[in-house]
Amino acid sequence: MASIFSRIVAGEIPSYKVAEDDNYYAFLDINPVAQGHTLVIPKREVDYIFDLTDDELAGLMLFAKRVAAAIKAAIPCKKVGVTVLGLEVPHAHVHLVPLNKESDMSFGGDKLSLPAEQMQDICRRISEQFK
Ligand code: AMP
Repeated sequence: MASIFSRIVAGEIPSYKVAEDDNYYAFLDINPVAQGHTLVIPKREVDYIFDLTDDELAGLMLFAKRVAAAIKAAIPCKKVGVTVLGLEVPHAHVHLVPLNKESDMSFGGDKLSLPAEQMQDICRRISEQFK
């Protein structure tokens, strides 16, 4: 069965899409650790990020770099942090999180659940900055 993220790419499950190209897809994390928390995935479904081919892994990180630039332009922050966990969803993904302090990157605590209008607004602001 396709992963939940493959179903998002296929449009079967809605997402707050930030950016997309032929091979990669970026969308807001539904339970962000900070406003602007974005996931970047390869469209090809592979569970473990280091099972991607070298070219796929490089392409994923280069796409994530462009998404991070858009996040940084749209969301006030010092830097955009990068984390790979992958313990919940078996489809490789990179977490991009706007950082003002180290604890903004904390995945162990409470996550946010923002109203749809706010998620839409954040999504629009980031996608408008994507180049
Ligand atoms: P992990 O696999 O441990 O990196 O965690 C999976 C991440 O995916 C969590 O931060 C979830 O909030 C996020 N997530 C799960 N389902 C969705 C979804 N349908 N849309 C957006 N984010 C999701």
